[in-house]
Formats: sequence, C-alpha cells, structure tokens
Amino acid sequence: MNIVLFGPPGAGKGTQSALLVSQKKMHHISTGDLFRSHIKSKTPLGLRAKEYLDSGRLMPDDVTLSMVKEALAMLHGEGVVLDGFPRNVAQADALETLGREVGFDVEKAVFFDVPEAVLVGRLSGRWTCRNCGAVYHEVNTPPKVAGVCDRCQSKDLYQRADDSLESIKTRLKIYQETTAPLRDYYQARGRLAAVDGQGPTEQVYDRLCRVLWEKK
Ligand SMILES: [Zn+2]
Repeated sequence: MNIVLFGPPGAGKGTQSALLVSQKKMHHISTGDLFRSHIKSKTPLGLRAKEYLDSGRLMPDDVTLSMVKEALAMLHGEGVVLDGFPRNVAQADALETLGREVGFDVEKAVFFDVPEAVLVGRLSGRWTCRNCGAVYHEVNTPPKVAGVCDRCQSKDLYQRADDSLESIKTRLKIYQETTAPLRDYYQARGRLAAVDGQGPTEQVYDRLCRVLWEKK
C-alpha cells in the first residue's frame, strides 16, 4: 500500500506517519526530512534547497520533485507514506508521471479533517527539534524529558517564528488555496479517503487504519 497523507498544517500527518512506520513498517518520505538530509550532506539539490530556505522563498517544484523521485526510486515499490508531498495539484500530476518512471503508484490519498480552531490551538504550542525536525506540543504531545528531543536526544527544541497567530492564519490560508484542491483531485480519481483528525492520537490512528485496510 502506497499512500499520500495530506491536510492543513497541524492536522497530525507527521505523528500518524510515524505510527505507520513503527506499527506497519512502512517507509516514510517527508519533504522536510528530504530537505534536511540533502542540506546536511551538501548534495547539489541540498545546496539549492538551502538557498531557498535561507531566503524564505518558496521551494521550486523541480527541487522537491527530484528529491522525491530519487527517494522513491531507492525504495522501489511498496509501503510508502508520502507526507507533505504533493502539496499542490501540479505536484500531484508530476507524481503520477514520475511514479510511472520509478514504479510507484498512489493507492490512497488520506485527507485529515480538523476544524480551524483546533488547528490554531495545536500550532500555537508547537516546539520543533532543530536537529531532526520532530515536532512536539507543550500540552498535547510533550517530549518525555522536558526540552529534550525523544527521537535524537538533541536539546535544541525551538518555537518556529511562523507559529505566531498571524503566521498560523496565513499558513492555513495558503493551505486552502494550494493544497486543499488535492481533495477534488484524488476524489475524481477514486482514491480519496477522509479521516477525522480530532481527538487522541491513538483514536485517529485507528480510524486511519480502518480507511486503509478494512474492506467496506
Ligand atoms: Zn530531534
């Protein structure tokens, strides 16, 4: 099963991806992780990505697409969770094309449905690990040891500048304009599934597994 997870920022895609990796042994591809690892190992794509991230400009699709294609080609095949990609209809189209080249097929695109007020609450208490990108919430999902990343033990947790209320509203608006149209895109192709993203992580995960693996 190859799937795409999408939804507004704060909908819990990253958390649910991590569960699919640990429980179902799926492979997780997130564009955030790809950017970080390419930048760390200073690949030609990483050097280009860094320029855009440093200057706060929008990452061009061709950089993202090249990284995703390379990652998919290495996994050749089954059990991939794409998280944060595609983020617009043009990327979804490109994924269909490059998927044919590397033998990758999106079977289900899962939309995480969470009301805006809930998203704002989640996003405003977020802490991100500067080293590995893990995300915590001071109330909902704090790290096991305060101030220390569970995943990589780094003590460099920070609140992103764009987690201010005004930036959160802007990010949600951008999501509505660019990523939300993926619902229609995958609906039209008979591959859309929706999951109620509210409530405890485990409950959301149960719902997710039901839409993915239970026959109707
Ligand atoms: Zn970390």
